Amino acid sequence: MLVLSAEQMADIATAAEAAWPAEGCGLLIGKGRRVITVTRVMNADNLLKAQGNDRFELDPKVRFAAERSVRGTKERVVGHWHSHPDGSARPSATDLAQAWEPELIWLIVGIAPDRQGRPQAVQMLAHRLDRDAGRVFAVRMETAEKRACQAARFPT
Ligand SMILES: [Zn+2]
Repeated sequence: MLVLSAEQMADIATAAEAAWPAEGCGLLIGKGRRVITVTRVMNADNLLKAQGNDRFELDPKVRFAAERSVRGTKERVVGHWHSHPDGSARPSATDLAQAWEPELIWLIVGIAPDRQGRPQAVQMLAHRLDRDAGRVFAVRMETAEKRACQAARFPT
């Protein structure tokens, strides 16, 4: 399961809308194994934004900075997000072909224009991609706020 705060989700949606009609992208920093909680989102430049709106390559400088920032902490790079300008939040064939790191979570935001032509985040889904098996696995998402409510303890 992937846990994000409502604010982190809004940040990702805003960055993805700003990148439209190209794909936007960023890194997810977090902790935990079975339940992965995102602690920080680092938005990055898509180096391929000038080469069509169906691909992304996250600026490696941001990845290096992220790896440096988590060294010696409980945090790690747990995954990344990118957007699809056609509104779909499912991995494309291009995504699957580029899934070199099977442990990473792929968060995908579908962006579609509203009636005024303004880009809107319409869907957000998380996945794991098994490139060798050619398969995609859905990862359940939950907001940190909802989990905090469920964990509440009442005095007896
Ligand atoms: Zn994609």
